[in-house]
Amino acid sequence: MARLGLFGITVPERLGGVGADVVSYAIVMEELSRGYASVADQCGLVELVATLLAEHGTPAQQERYLAPLLRFERRCAYAITEPEAGSDVAGVRTTAVRNGEGWRLRGEKIWIHNAPVADFAVVLARTDPAAAKRGMSIFLVDADAPGYARGRKEHKMGQRASQVGALAFNDVALSADALVGEEGRGFPIMMSVLDKGRVGIAALAVGILQNALDESVAYAKGRRQFGRAIAEFQAVQWMLADMAKATHAARLMTRHAAARLDAGERASVDCAMAKCFASDAAVEHTANAVQIHGGIGYIRGTAVERLYRDAKITQIYEGTNEIQRMIIARHLLA
Ligand SMILES: Cc1cc2nc3c(=O)[nH]c(=O)nc-3n(C[C@H](O)[C@H](O)[C@H](O)COP(=O)(O)OP(=O)(O)OC[C@H]3O[C@@H](n4cnc5c(N)ncnc54)[C@H](O)[C@@H]3O)c2cc1C
Repeated sequence: MARLGLFGITVPERLGGVGADVVSYAIVMEELSRGYASVADQCGLVELVATLLAEHGTPAQQERYLAPLLRFERRCAYAITEPEAGSDVAGVRTTAVRNGEGWRLRGEKIWIHNAPVADFAVVLARTDPAAAKRGMSIFLVDADAPGYARGRKEHKMGQRASQVGALAFNDVALSADALVGEEGRGFPIMMSVLDKGRVGIAALAVGILQNALDESVAYAKGRRQFGRAIAEFQAVQWMLADMAKATHAARLMTRHAAARLDAGERASVDCAMAKCFASDAAVEHTANAVQIHGGIGYIRGTAVERLYRDAKITQIYEGTNEIQRMIIARHLLA
């Protein structure tokens, strides 16, 4: 993927990226996911970390972490979630305490993409226990640092080719240059890259939808019952039609949110809407794709059975859809 230019799609070329826009990123994510969502996931994770380093990293951090990440010489993890801090990111308990010029990091992260294999992690930690969102900072932590420990690898319902696991930091000593951006600005920095992340998840959901639609149309034309193709039954036609319009609408919302980011506009609400709509549609219509397939749709090895499982997580990660709805409603009521 790195050789094909699928890592760092929106990162400037001078930093080793592709230098394309967010709409291009959305198209890439959709097409990769149409093949296999786990593969798109890897592209999305690299984009998130690469964007953070491109926009907020120092030249030294970019040389040490960003360039090798985009060449696939080093693998990354993006570690926010903790046992007590899921949707409520301000509840993060991992702490970084000043230690001379540097820091000491202590805490635990769970359900982190690439945790079992990452060479370094971008970690959100509390640097001021008294301040809530303003008391957090971001650190770059090497996996070979003493005290860095990989936890259990989880067995997931779907997207099973991407690895998720826990990380523990047992008094990891960090030098001063491990801090990304300003001390205390970790929360807004993390959130600022999540808009692009949500466009990526929306596009990934669109890819799943398109795959489900293609599979369903082909199956409905081929499967015969009562002496005719099931595609001739109106009940099946309506499921296909609804799937097609949801796919189209989700794609347009995703590209629109991406275009607004490209125009430098505030697009958090558009990104939340696209992520929420596309992922809800993916779950609803992959279930219908299984329905169109009947019993074979429930059997392991059938494409739509995997799509159904792959779709579910898109409603949960990068902010659950309840959180996306809160973002949308807050904007409406402001
Ligand atoms: C496969 C996978 C990969 C992941 N990858 C990463 C990763 O790479 N990095 C990372 O940091 N995290 C990652 N996560 C974690 C993911 O982002 C969180 O699971 C998600 O943010 C939800 O947090 P939670 O699971 O603690 O749920 P909770 O926050 O406990 O939520 C449980 C339920 O309550 C609802 N809820 C919570 N608060 C509210 C509210 N205020 N109003 C209404 N409803 C609410 C939620 O929407 C949800 O339905 C991953 C998770 C999974 C499963």
